[in-house]
Amino acid sequence: MYKFAVLGHPIKHSLSPDIHAQFARQFDIQIDYDKILAPIDSFAQSAQAFIDQGADGFNVTVPFKLDAFNFATELTLNAKTAGAVNTIKITNNQYLGENTDGTGLVNDLINNLNITLTDKVILILGAGGATQGLLLPLLNQHPKRIMIANRTASKAEKLHHDFSAYGNTCGFGLDKIKHTPVDIIINATSASLDGKMPDIANGCADNAICYDLMYGQQTPFMDWAKNNNASLIVDGLGMLVEQAACSFEFWTGNKPKTQAIIKALRR
Ligand code: NDP
Repeated sequence: MYKFAVLGHPIKHSLSPDIHAQFARQFDIQIDYDKILAPIDSFAQSAQAFIDQGADGFNVTVPFKLDAFNFATELTLNAKTAGAVNTIKITNNQYLGENTDGTGLVNDLINNLNITLTDKVILILGAGGATQGLLLPLLNQHPKRIMIANRTASKAEKLHHDFSAYGNTCGFGLDKIKHTPVDIIINATSASLDGKMPDIANGCADNAICYDLMYGQQTPFMDWAKNNNASLIVDGLGMLVEQAACSFEFWTGNKPKTQAIIKALRR
């Protein structure tokens, strides 16, 4: 029996136990997957208490991905470049930190939505923790260019500086977005959580694929994409399931099938 959990604050809303239970059934594996509400100021104590109970691994969600990065005793390259950890695997008293968010998004785009990323121009809105986790897996697909646009321009410029060694990037303020179309726009801001739309130029979404990392509701970004002639509008539910699948594989070595689960959750 594997022992897993997700740690977050809040955590009640998390779909992870249900998703992982469905993965486990595919391989006839027994798992116990809990939700743990960690107090905001004591992530490390909560994580250690779970490990002491015999945990094999755990997921980490808002607002603890940076705490988990610091808690890990070893990091994968993905986690190192992301500067954040959403998955920890316990082996031989080592806590190996991974970040599956970016690979989850890439798998959703390529495998579920049949979108090719090679040679595409991608505009990412936002320069927070999520964007930082997306950049390396996206750049590994060899897009023509990734433009990072953020409300606070300096954060986008910094990400450009940190990731330009891995591919063609640039970073600027939201106000510098041009009216010319791009291939793919990814809303990685948290504006949707507040029911807001980042303040950007019209025109860039014309015939573009528009992907909001937020899931579970129609967002202002999705409405904006519809009004701006996007060719496809998608929310982040597929990414959620795909990043969970990467965690499950990281822990157990088994790669789950995801499409039926995404369909069922969408229903
Ligand atoms: P952070 O708090 O690290 O970053 C928030 C970003 O949003 C910043 O770039 C911030 O800009 C920007 N922002 C916030 N409000 C506005 C606004 N009104 N207008 C323009 N920009 C705004 O959050 P994360 O990066 O961790 O998460 C971003 C989103 O991604 C969340 O909605 C989260 O739920 C989602 N997510 C979804 C996942 C999935 O599996 N589907 C996985 C991970 C994240 P500034 O720097 O100027 O403050």
